[in-house]
Amino acid sequence: MSDKPESELRLDALYAALRNGAAIDREAAFDAAMAELACHPGQAWARELAEASVSEAGEARLASATRAFLDACGCVPGFDQEPELLGGLEAALDAVRADLRATGVAGQVSLVIGPDWFPTNVVVETWKGDHGWTSGIFPSDAADDLSALVAVAEQVREAVMESLNYQFMGKVWPACPAHGVATTPMARRGGGVWWCDSGGHVAAKIGHWAQGHTRHDEPSPQQLPLSRRVVSRHMRSGSSPRSRGARAWPLIRYASSSPAGA
Ligand SMILES: [Zn+2]
Repeated sequence: MSDKPESELRLDALYAALRNGAAIDREAAFDAAMAELACHPGQAWARELAEASVSEAGEARLASATRAFLDACGCVPGFDQEPELLGGLEAALDAVRADLRATGVAGQVSLVIGPDWFPTNVVVETWKGDHGWTSGIFPSDAADDLSALVAVAEQVREAVMESLNYQFMGKVWPACPAHGVATTPMARRGGGVWWCDSGGHVAAKIGHWAQGHTRHDEPSPQQLPLSRRVVSRHMRSGSSPRSRGARAWPLIRYASSSPAGA
């Protein structure tokens, strides 16, 4: 039994009808539009959907209006609606596993759904059961290969830092080989890279970290951004503006295979 609000269930149903090419529930479409207009009276997409849902116009207009409305509302399908999104995350994780091996981190990592602080997302779980400190990977992050790669790399970075207890030791993973400081995953020139925060350069392409630079690189505390020094689980809040309510999923391991490590 879902504990999602009725408004979210209605949007899910509209999305599912669109995806499956099924008839759109006109009453549900009207209700969704009116709920939006109650908050944002000038929302053109909601007005169009309301009109399309009660007009004599055909299904095509209603479908078009529904799609535009869902897009305008940022209604991105969840991992439960689009489980194939998980495949892209798995491919990304395989790439990041190569960086773990290259930097001497032997522990296993896997993807899990349903961290207790943000059950709609996916996080990386380490050999010690750590999940990082942010909200995890949103379904929208998995929409394309590059954003999936960057998002997964960030989750690996956080979870590995936790399991190595690096935040409290003044260490970072993965550390820039040239400067020994923190690197951050980001999209750059069409590819995913580990970006050296202090040096302002690409430390490595994600999935292509040079062998031999181990995790034992240690910057001075002054080189660490404040956020890396004082990170705590208190940051684990489900109040992200991107949150549209919790989904009561159990913690599901859907892919736990992992290389043996370095
Ligand atoms: Zn650097």
